[in-house]
Amino acid sequence: MSDLLDTLQRPIRDLRISVTDKCNFRCPYCMPAEIFGEKYEFLPKAEILTFEEITRLARIFVALGVTKIRVTGGEPLLRRDLETLIAKLSQISGVQDLTLTTNGYLLADKAQSLKDAGLHRLTVSLDAIDDQTFNRMSGRTHGSERVLKGIRAAEKAGFQAIKINAVVQKDINDHLVIDLAQHFHNTGHILRFIEFMDVGNRNNWNLDQVVPAAEIIDRIHTVLPLEPLDPNYTGEVAKRYRYLDGGGEIGIIASVTQPFCGDCTRARLSTDGKLYTCLFASEGTDLRDSLRRGASNAHLRDQIARIWRRRTDRYSEIRSNHTPATRKIEMYQIGG
Ligand code: SAM
Ligand code: SF4
Ligand code: SF4
Repeated sequence: MSDLLDTLQRPIRDLRISVTDKCNFRCPYCMPAEIFGEKYEFLPKAEILTFEEITRLARIFVALGVTKIRVTGGEPLLRRDLETLIAKLSQISGVQDLTLTTNGYLLADKAQSLKDAGLHRLTVSLDAIDDQTFNRMSGRTHGSERVLKGIRAAEKAGFQAIKINAVVQKDINDHLVIDLAQHFHNTGHILRFIEFMDVGNRNNWNLDQVVPAAEIIDRIHTVLPLEPLDPNYTGEVAKRYRYLDGGGEIGIIASVTQPFCGDCTRARLSTDGKLYTCLFASEGTDLRDSLRRGASNAHLRDQIARIWRRRTDRYSEIRSNHTPATRKIEMYQIGG
């Protein structure tokens, strides 16, 4: 089969699967508590893809060229028996990288069973070690220790080079980027700073709240000198740096100031089975409907291939500081 390419000659390589729209955090940049309150109605069970449906679609995506699968959410560890899904996905031949992004709150209890189920790698989100700032960034009140405990449990279970994602927001946690760098220096884990993005419609994004990647790197460089590293592969979202003292590697995801749409090979499957070809898309294609109407694998494959071939997305390269006229999908519905 010849490579499936979109209109900008980008192949399909990564699939991000959101397994739940629920979350036990209320990060203001993703699910602000004033909107996602107790009365907020999340998807009913019947609308959520089953593990069988997810696995069937994942196989089709792999047949079309996907080699990397990321399980995300919402908070994926809230999905009951997630290990069962991980085990199914890990058995698909052609999946070279199976990874999960979590806020870490439930990780201490889950790390070993996820490893046993065949999960290759982990990303844990942690925006600050300082409790007060952690609470502000996560909308919780328990401080960062529980997440740090989750990371320790993951190390013990055998996960190495865990990626630690930290969203940076000006005047909220940017004064603590050095603190985070020092915490993970010499641990073998890879801290990655993410520029605050204008995902969804509800986080009051403004360009003034974005700390440019170059500034974050400069600040760390003054304390822990760095040098750039080559990308591991084409399409890697994080720019890599290493500490000159041999203390390890960090990354920076500069989706706002240095967009990387040209190499974007990511497809996203929402909790209710819609396919999105961009994090900032307003419309997805309902694959669940096709699945539940009894579509054959060949039909689903053609449907996905048609969507990918028509793909033109390059939102980050053309974004402006204005609120877009169209509504966008929310981050917790399709994951990061
Ligand atoms: N709940 C899990 C977690 O937080 O790791 C997985 C889903 S979360 C939507 C995936 C990633 O998106 C997290 O690392 C989070 O920090 C990031 N994220 C969410 N909203 C963001 C925003 N507005 N700008 C940049 N990154 C964001
Ligand atoms: Fe939940 Fe992750 Fe969104 Fe925070 S970023 S609210 S942890 S889904
Ligand atoms: Fe990919 Fe869309 Fe992000 Fe560009 S804006 S890198 S096309 S997800």
